[in-house]
Amino acid sequence: MKIAVYCGSNKGKNPLYEQEARRLGEYLAKNNIGMVYGGGGVGLMGAIADSVMSNGGYVFGVIPEHLKSKEVAHFGLSELHVVKDMHIRKNMMIQNADAFVAMPGGAGTMEEIFEVWTWLQIGYHKKACAFYNVGGFYDKLLEFISYMVEQGFLDKKYLDALIVESEPEKLIEAIKKYKSPLSKFK
Ligand code: AMP
Repeated sequence: MKIAVYCGSNKGKNPLYEQEARRLGEYLAKNNIGMVYGGGGVGLMGAIADSVMSNGGYVFGVIPEHLKSKEVAHFGLSELHVVKDMHIRKNMMIQNADAFVAMPGGAGTMEEIFEVWTWLQIGYHKKACAFYNVGGFYDKLLEFISYMVEQGFLDKKYLDALIVESEPEKLIEAIKKYKSPLSKFK
Protein backbone atom coordinates (compact mmCIF):
# COMPACT_ATOMS: atom_id res chain seq x y z
CA MET A 1 0.00 0.00 0.00
CA LYS A 2 1.15 3.56 -0.78
CA ILE A 3 -0.30 6.68 0.79
CA ALA A 4 0.00 10.20 -0.59
CA VAL A 5 0.79 12.71 2.12
CA TYR A 6 0.16 16.40 1.47
CA CYS A 7 1.76 18.75 3.96
CA GLY A 8 3.32 22.15 4.46
CA SER A 9 6.45 23.30 2.74
CA ASN A 10 6.92 25.17 6.06
CA LYS A 11 7.24 23.59 9.47
CA GLY A 12 4.66 25.78 11.21
CA LYS A 13 5.15 27.45 14.56
CA ASN A 14 4.30 24.62 16.90
CA PRO A 15 7.08 21.97 17.13
CA LEU A 16 4.30 19.39 17.46
CA TYR A 17 3.72 19.57 13.69
CA GLU A 18 7.23 18.38 12.89
CA GLN A 19 7.21 15.79 15.68
CA GLU A 20 3.98 14.34 14.31
CA ALA A 21 5.28 14.37 10.73
CA ARG A 22 8.23 12.31 11.95
CA ARG A 23 5.97 10.01 13.97
CA LEU A 24 3.69 9.35 11.01
CA GLY A 25 6.72 8.77 8.75
CA GLU A 26 8.17 6.25 11.17
CA TYR A 27 4.83 4.47 11.46
CA LEU A 28 4.51 4.19 7.67
CA ALA A 29 8.04 2.82 7.31
CA LYS A 30 7.67 0.28 10.12
CA ASN A 31 4.36 -0.95 8.73
CA ASN A 32 5.58 -1.35 5.15
CA ILE A 33 3.39 1.44 3.80
CA GLY A 34 5.06 3.49 1.08
CA MET A 35 4.68 7.25 0.92
CA VAL A 36 3.98 9.33 -2.18
CA TYR A 37 4.58 13.06 -1.75
CA GLY A 38 5.61 16.27 -3.47
CA GLY A 39 9.35 15.55 -3.43
CA GLY A 40 10.43 18.58 -1.41
CA GLY A 41 13.14 18.59 1.23
CA VAL A 42 11.82 21.52 3.27
CA GLY A 43 9.16 22.03 5.93
CA LEU A 44 6.95 19.17 7.03
CA MET A 45 7.47 17.62 3.59
CA GLY A 46 11.17 17.20 4.26
CA ALA A 47 10.60 16.07 7.85
CA ILE A 48 8.23 13.26 6.96
CA ALA A 49 10.33 12.11 3.99
CA ASP A 50 13.49 12.02 6.17
CA SER A 51 11.64 10.05 8.78
CA VAL A 52 10.31 7.43 6.35
CA MET A 53 13.76 7.03 4.75
CA SER A 54 15.70 6.86 8.01
CA ASN A 55 13.33 4.17 9.27
CA GLY A 56 13.93 2.02 6.21
CA GLY A 57 10.73 2.87 4.33
CA TYR A 58 9.86 3.72 0.73
CA VAL A 59 9.29 7.25 -0.58
CA PHE A 60 8.11 8.15 -4.08
CA GLY A 61 8.54 11.89 -4.70
CA VAL A 62 7.25 13.91 -7.66
CA ILE A 63 8.40 17.48 -8.10
CA PRO A 64 7.76 19.92 -10.95
CA GLU A 65 10.86 21.30 -12.63
CA HIS A 66 10.27 24.91 -11.54
CA LEU A 67 9.91 23.94 -7.84
CA LYS A 68 12.93 21.67 -7.88
CA SER A 69 15.27 24.32 -6.52
CA LYS A 70 12.68 26.34 -4.56
CA GLU A 71 11.45 23.38 -2.56
CA VAL A 72 15.02 22.10 -2.43
CA ALA A 73 14.17 18.72 -3.92
CA HIS A 74 14.97 15.82 -1.62
CA PHE A 75 17.64 13.71 -3.33
CA GLY A 76 17.72 10.92 -0.75
CA LEU A 77 14.41 9.30 -1.69
CA SER A 78 13.70 5.79 -2.99
CA GLU A 79 12.43 7.45 -6.23
CA LEU A 80 12.34 11.10 -7.26
CA HIS A 81 10.56 12.08 -10.47
CA VAL A 82 11.09 15.55 -11.88
CA VAL A 83 8.11 16.43 -14.07
CA LYS A 84 7.13 19.31 -16.34
CA ASP A 85 4.42 20.97 -14.28
CA MET A 86 2.14 20.86 -11.26
CA HIS A 87 -0.68 19.12 -13.15
CA ILE A 88 1.57 16.20 -14.03
CA ARG A 89 2.85 16.09 -10.45
CA LYS A 90 -0.59 15.99 -8.89
CA ASN A 91 -1.82 13.41 -11.36
CA MET A 92 1.17 11.15 -10.78
CA MET A 93 0.68 11.38 -7.03
CA ILE A 94 -3.01 10.53 -7.39
CA GLN A 95 -2.37 7.57 -9.72
CA ASN A 96 0.38 6.13 -7.53
CA ALA A 97 -1.40 6.35 -4.17
CA ASP A 98 -4.08 4.17 -2.58
CA ALA A 99 -5.24 6.91 -0.18
CA PHE A 100 -4.62 10.61 0.53
CA VAL A 101 -3.70 12.24 3.82
CA ALA A 102 -3.35 15.94 4.62
CA MET A 103 -1.08 16.94 7.47
CA PRO A 104 -1.00 20.60 8.58
CA GLY A 105 -0.02 22.92 5.76
CA GLY A 106 -0.92 26.04 3.83
CA ALA A 107 -2.83 26.85 0.65
CA GLY A 108 -0.93 24.24 -1.43
CA THR A 109 -1.84 21.47 0.99
CA MET A 110 -5.49 22.58 1.04
CA GLU A 111 -5.66 22.73 -2.73
CA GLU A 112 -4.29 19.21 -3.09
CA ILE A 113 -6.51 17.50 -0.52
CA PHE A 114 -9.59 19.38 -1.77
CA GLU A 115 -8.84 18.32 -5.31
CA VAL A 116 -8.76 14.64 -4.42
CA TRP A 117 -11.81 15.00 -2.18
CA THR A 118 -13.81 16.67 -4.98
CA TRP A 119 -12.63 13.99 -7.42
CA LEU A 120 -14.06 11.41 -5.02
CA GLN A 121 -17.40 13.25 -5.11
CA ILE A 122 -17.57 13.13 -8.89
CA GLY A 123 -16.52 9.49 -9.06
CA TYR A 124 -12.97 9.81 -10.48
CA HIS A 125 -11.66 7.50 -7.76
CA LYS A 126 -12.79 5.58 -4.67
CA LYS A 127 -9.77 6.19 -2.45
CA ALA A 128 -9.85 7.45 1.13
CA CYS A 129 -9.25 11.14 1.87
CA ALA A 130 -8.04 11.88 5.39
CA PHE A 131 -6.92 14.67 7.68
CA TYR A 132 -4.16 13.92 10.15
CA ASN A 133 -5.48 16.42 12.64
CA VAL A 134 -2.35 17.30 14.60
CA GLY A 135 -3.19 19.45 17.63
CA GLY A 136 -6.68 20.13 16.26
CA PHE A 137 -5.16 22.02 13.30
CA TYR A 138 -8.12 21.14 11.07
CA ASP A 139 -10.94 21.69 13.58
CA LYS A 140 -11.95 25.07 12.13
CA LEU A 141 -11.89 23.76 8.56
CA LEU A 142 -14.05 20.79 9.54
CA GLU A 143 -16.44 23.17 11.26
CA PHE A 144 -16.64 25.16 8.04
CA ILE A 145 -17.22 21.99 5.99
CA SER A 146 -20.12 21.16 8.37
CA TYR A 147 -21.47 24.63 7.65
CA MET A 148 -21.39 23.83 3.91
CA VAL A 149 -23.59 20.81 4.66
CA GLU A 150 -25.88 22.87 6.89
CA GLN A 151 -26.28 25.50 4.16
CA GLY A 152 -27.10 22.91 1.51
CA PHE A 153 -23.91 23.07 -0.57
CA LEU A 154 -22.50 19.67 0.31
CA ASP A 155 -24.08 16.25 0.71
CA LYS A 156 -23.40 15.04 4.26
CA LYS A 157 -22.13 11.70 2.97
CA TYR A 158 -19.02 13.47 1.63
CA LEU A 159 -18.33 15.06 4.99
CA ASP A 160 -18.83 11.66 6.62
CA ALA A 161 -16.48 10.11 4.05
CA LEU A 162 -13.56 12.18 5.36
CA ILE A 163 -11.32 10.39 7.81
CA VAL A 164 -10.12 12.56 10.69
CA GLU A 165 -7.58 11.07 13.08
CA SER A 166 -4.62 12.21 15.14
CA GLU A 167 -2.90 8.89 15.87
CA PRO A 168 -0.97 7.10 13.09
CA GLU A 169 -2.37 3.71 14.02
CA LYS A 170 -6.00 4.88 13.99
CA LEU A 171 -5.43 6.78 10.76
CA ILE A 172 -4.08 3.74 8.92
CA GLU A 173 -6.70 1.45 10.40
CA ALA A 174 -9.47 3.80 9.18
CA ILE A 175 -7.88 3.97 5.71
CA LYS A 176 -7.72 0.18 5.49
CA LYS A 177 -11.39 -0.18 6.49
CA TYR A 178 -12.58 2.65 4.25
CA LYS A 179 -15.50 2.14 1.84
CA SER A 180 -16.19 4.90 -0.67
CA PRO A 181 -19.65 6.52 -0.80
CA LEU A 182 -21.34 6.56 -4.19
CA SER A 183 -20.37 9.55 -6.29
CA LYS A 184 -23.08 12.07 -7.03
CA PHE A 185 -22.95 10.99 -10.67
CA LYS A 186 -22.88 7.25 -9.85
P1 AMP B 1 1.94 24.68 1.24
O1 AMP B 1 0.93 23.90 2.02
O2 AMP B 1 1.37 25.94 0.67
O3 AMP B 1 3.21 24.91 1.99
O4 AMP B 1 2.31 23.81 -0.03
C1 AMP B 1 2.53 22.46 0.14
C2 AMP B 1 2.64 21.77 -1.18
O5 AMP B 1 1.66 22.19 -2.08
C3 AMP B 1 3.98 22.03 -1.83
O6 AMP B 1 4.42 20.82 -2.35
C4 AMP B 1 3.67 22.94 -2.97
O7 AMP B 1 4.44 22.67 -4.09
C5 AMP B 1 2.26 22.60 -3.28
N1 AMP B 1 1.57 23.74 -3.81
C6 AMP B 1 1.76 25.02 -3.56
N2 AMP B 1 0.93 25.79 -4.29
C7 AMP B 1 0.19 24.93 -5.02
C8 AMP B 1 -0.84 25.07 -6.00
N3 AMP B 1 -1.30 26.24 -6.38
N4 AMP B 1 -1.37 23.95 -6.53
C9 AMP B 1 -0.95 22.76 -6.13
N5 AMP B 1 0.02 22.55 -5.25
C10 AMP B 1 0.59 23.62 -4.70
